[in-house]
Amino acid sequence: MEQTVIDVVIIGAGPAGLQAAVHATRKKASVVLFGKSAGSSIHGAHVENYLCVAGVTDGAKMLAIAQEQVLGFGAKIKDEDVLRVEEKEGLFSIGTEREEYLARTIILATGTARKKLKVPGEKELSGRGVSYCVDCDANFFRNAQVAVIGNGSAAVDGALTLLGYTPHVFLISEKLETTPELQQKLDSSTVSRKDGLWVEKIQGENAVQSILLTDGSTLAVEGVFIELGAKGAIELAINLGVALDADTMTYIETNKRQETNIPGIYAAGDIAGQPWQMAKAVGEGCVAGWEAANYANRLKRHPTT
Ligand SMILES: Cc1cc2nc3c(=O)[nH]c(=O)nc-3n(C[C@H](O)[C@H](O)[C@H](O)COP(=O)(O)OP(=O)(O)OC[C@H]3O[C@@H](n4cnc5c(N)ncnc54)[C@H](O)[C@@H]3O)c2cc1C
Repeated sequence: MEQTVIDVVIIGAGPAGLQAAVHATRKKASVVLFGKSAGSSIHGAHVENYLCVAGVTDGAKMLAIAQEQVLGFGAKIKDEDVLRVEEKEGLFSIGTEREEYLARTIILATGTARKKLKVPGEKELSGRGVSYCVDCDANFFRNAQVAVIGNGSAAVDGALTLLGYTPHVFLISEKLETTPELQQKLDSSTVSRKDGLWVEKIQGENAVQSILLTDGSTLAVEGVFIELGAKGAIELAINLGVALDADTMTYIETNKRQETNIPGIYAAGDIAGQPWQMAKAVGEGCVAGWEAANYANRLKRHPTT
């Protein structure tokens, strides 16, 4: 059976992604939004500087209202993390924790940089063995002993990806929760599991040498990949050839239409640069949703252009 092609896939369930969904659906595009509300920066925040919300200042509540609105406009929301995105015969293939999807356009609305572990040594050794991006840095650790830290699908996927570069991969999880598919892949892989443990400290002089675990043991590693939460947009973007800002390489470059350098890929919100504020995220989400829907509708009318 032929796979359905979605007009606009939005990655990210924060203000940018939700607003993009509102505007794309209003332009009669089919829209699927991937992401978890609890992963949004605004989820735990108390908001006072966003217009018209004097009565509702609880970020989680605002997101819940927005989700209802988006569903009412006809978008689908899937509580799934996206693990990879690839170009495929003029379309985009999106692999989540659970399934594969095909889309005409993608909006990256995944928020800011990766979550930190907040342990001694992490900051000091960042870029010297501590990494937040398996796809960016795995190549530096060929045949080295490495550890992935995390409790979710992004950590499992990271550990499995690293096996393509080195056979010495440890996965350290306090309490691993992933999909049955990834669990099966992990169980039949050679990733060494350290369950029920966490990292107390990352150790090394000028480069990572070991990590101290919560049971008091030390694990000698050259690389520590911190994979907390969902896979970051930078990783997804890198695989697609999406350009980052030349100065800091930490956010996605867009023009006023929220277009990236790759036709059909848009970015909005914190991932498209500062200021990291809801008002900006919503404004950019509006533009991205609008433009992506126009692009998809054009593509449907003129499939070869
Ligand atoms: C403590 C705190 C207080 C704040 N207070 C304010 C305030 O008062 N006023 C204000 O304007 N701003 C405030 N902000 C900033 C505001 O939260 C952000 O600017 C805003 O949330 C950005 O929206 P966004 O949609 O770009 O990203 P986010 O809201 O961070 O949403 C990102 C979404 O992408 C999802 N995601 C990430 N990777 C993937 C993946 N691989 N697959 C699927 N989904 C993925 C996440 O789960 C999440 O749903 C605050 C931030 C914090 C941390």
